[in-house]
Amino acid sequence: MLLKLIIIGAVVFWIYKKFGGTLNWQKDTKEVKTKKQQDEDLMIDKDTLVECEKCSTFVVKSEAIIYNGKYYCSKECLPN
Ligand SMILES: [Zn+2]
Repeated sequence: MLLKLIIIGAVVFWIYKKFGGTLNWQKDTKEVKTKKQQDEDLMIDKDTLVECEKCSTFVVKSEAIIYNGKYYCSKECLPN
């Protein structure tokens, strides 16, 4: 009788663990999706045009030089 209870307990624990594992798996999938979305957002962000602080030329964000939190089109426009 006691052995039966232990087996039932083990089965319940196994189901609980399996259920918990499934929940964790769903959480991981969600995190991967979020990371993919972040990458997509970053790709869009890279194509954004930013204005050069000195000569007002618009350059693609990925090619712009960031200096002191401001964007510059080339090294020539960087403050000395
Ligand atoms: Zn410039």
